[in-house]
Amino acid sequence: MTTRVLTALALLLIVGYASAQNQPAGWKGKFEQLDNLLPTPNSYRTGSGAPGTSYWQQQADYTIDVEVNDKTQLLTGTETITYHNNSPEALGFLWLQLDQNILADNSITNQTRTGAVRDSVPAGFFSGMAGVKTSDYKGGCTIKYIKDATGKALPYVVNNTMMRVDLPVPLKSGEKYTFSIAWSYTEYNRQIFGERGGYEYFPDDGNYVYTFAQWFPRMCVFDDYEGWQNKQFLGQGEFALVFGNYRVRITVPADHIVGATGTIQNAREVLTKDQLERYERAKKTFDKPVVIVTQDEATQKEKTHSEKKATWEFAAENVRDFAFASSRKFIWDAQAVKIGDKTPIAMSLYPKEGNPLWGKESTKAIRNALELYSERTFNYPYPVAYSVHAANQGMEYPMICFNYGRPNKDGTYSKQKLEGMVSVVVHEVGHNFFPMIVNSDERQWTWMDEGLNTFLEKETIRTRYPDLFESHGTPKGIVPFMKGEKSQMRPIMANSDDQRPSEFGANGYTKPSAALTLLRETVMGPELFDKAFKEYAQRWAFKHPKPGDFFRSLEDASAVDLDWFWRGWFYSTDNVDLAVDDVKWFRVKSQQVDPEKKTPRAKKGDLAASQQTNNGTDFSGGAQEFTILNTDPKAYGEFRGNLNDAEIRKQVDGKNLYQVRLRNVGGLVSPVIIEWTFKDGSKEIERLPAEIWRTNENEVSKVFVKEKEVVNILLDPNAELADVETANNVFPKRAMESRFDQFKKNN
Ligand SMILES: [Zn+2]
Repeated sequence: MTTRVLTALALLLIVGYASAQNQPAGWKGKFEQLDNLLPTPNSYRTGSGAPGTSYWQQQADYTIDVEVNDKTQLLTGTETITYHNNSPEALGFLWLQLDQNILADNSITNQTRTGAVRDSVPAGFFSGMAGVKTSDYKGGCTIKYIKDATGKALPYVVNNTMMRVDLPVPLKSGEKYTFSIAWSYTEYNRQIFGERGGYEYFPDDGNYVYTFAQWFPRMCVFDDYEGWQNKQFLGQGEFALVFGNYRVRITVPADHIVGATGTIQNAREVLTKDQLERYERAKKTFDKPVVIVTQDEATQKEKTHSEKKATWEFAAENVRDFAFASSRKFIWDAQAVKIGDKTPIAMSLYPKEGNPLWGKESTKAIRNALELYSERTFNYPYPVAYSVHAANQGMEYPMICFNYGRPNKDGTYSKQKLEGMVSVVVHEVGHNFFPMIVNSDERQWTWMDEGLNTFLEKETIRTRYPDLFESHGTPKGIVPFMKGEKSQMRPIMANSDDQRPSEFGANGYTKPSAALTLLRETVMGPELFDKAFKEYAQRWAFKHPKPGDFFRSLEDASAVDLDWFWRGWFYSTDNVDLAVDDVKWFRVKSQQVDPEKKTPRAKKGDLAASQQTNNGTDFSGGAQEFTILNTDPKAYGEFRGNLNDAEIRKQVDGKNLYQVRLRNVGGLVSPVIIEWTFKDGSKEIERLPAEIWRTNENEVSKVFVKEKEVVNILLDPNAELADVETANNVFPKRAMESRFDQFKKNN
């Protein structure tokens, strides 16, 4: 390098630095590194995106006794929590979550519900509105007592969905504390209160299907990132929870079947001899489900409501939550699945109203999800995975999830119903991986579990159900959303409860999923992406990752600089809209230049800019001729060798040169995919990385040398970039479709 170049470079660096501060027009910092947005790495979380050497997390173990009254729907429970303080700090108080308080009259959610009256509103509009009594239900959690290990009452204060328990002396680092809580609440009708658990009542036979979720006082997360994560439960942002071991005894009517987080400890006590034999057989059956409770047996029980009680005992290790389902209506099937050296049992519980769909598809979908997700992340570590049929619901808990997909009354169902049911089972079972094991903070970052999980759900459907159509969560599928008004939207990286309800599904699920598909298929390629994604999952399995840990891990494991990608797709509301602005076609002047002779005199000026070339909208003007000059010896500087000008001339001679000017209209930086169509009808696809925009993110020109004459240029031919406007992707520029034609096509 010459000193002159060095000086120029130094100058450039200074200019670059100044630009970063002032963001002059024309440079919007799209390739600027994310450093100013991500937390400073430390010994808890490193710059690589992995947990650091000082990483710690808390632990909460629960022993719970709970009883469900099938007549009043009252749930009463007592729990003993052993809280391990692994943090370096002493804690003077503990925070717990009382999620049922979201249904209390005075909840923030109820008070801040907005809406407007139109010409007509459905009666359901008034459900839960202050001043209108639409049901007798009284929501909210009643705390009977909170006691320490010696039975002494502990002071506590409830702030909406959060409860602070004051400790007599601060809990020192490395120590544990045991205390007990007794509580109750009335389970709600999910048809009226669209919460995540609840019951469904079946008027034909007078029975209930219960799905119990957020049913016990649960410890909040305390971590290195923000201390207590005690942001209120408002409804949209889901849960942040601590890992621990559970021992839960569930008392229900004796003819109920219970499914829960964990394995049954007393199968001999709660199952009949037949059921026990079938259950044991299912554990060793890999080819198809074994029916443990048949439809006939379940239907028989629906008629005779047992007055006796039974207590089912479950144990679960290293889970962040515990949920259960209970009903005498449950049909039950199960089979073993081979995952590495483990053989978890996939089990389904469903009332007869779910059949024949559920008997055919549920357990199969569990198996497909466990296998595909294990392949892409880590082997499913838990011993069981339940899928429970619950109307209108898709909700996940460790080892158990509640899923929709009910056939018509005559048992028939559409292809759409089948697709929805299979997708939701795969999705909710998939949540075992994100966020149940890769335990992100759902209250703040919906995308960290829903986005990653929707991506793998889609991968499962694509590979295991090739006949089911699924565009949801793909780059093509997200286009209608991305077309929206950018200035009104919120980015993926906005807190869950700050997402507008109309955008929640897109920003939490389908946009991040589409972005990950694009990342895998187009930006990184499957091999690098799968390695990096797996690395992130394995680093953070059974830990608490934050957004920066994901962003950093994917770069760390792949050597792909993705800061532009995270910035564009996750931190901005820009969209991808690439355009071919114009194309100029050139050919070398046929008159040969004798290389021995002096450089022929050439006209100065920019041929591409001249009016003589084609008109900029098609190739009808023909190729513009240009001259290749001999390289000026001064251009070689200190080098002794020269290029072989004659050889270069020979190489280019007779070929077609296309200077393509591309514009980034949508603002979101994107790789460029060009499909060339030649005069002889053949096609070629050329892929250019997004870095093509790194020095000018608005507009670039590039010269391509083609043997054959080009008749058509098309950007993003296979719709993999989520380009929101395809009319400007083509050259020659076609007459824009009239609005009427478009209307006809869309209707
Ligand atoms: Zn989900």
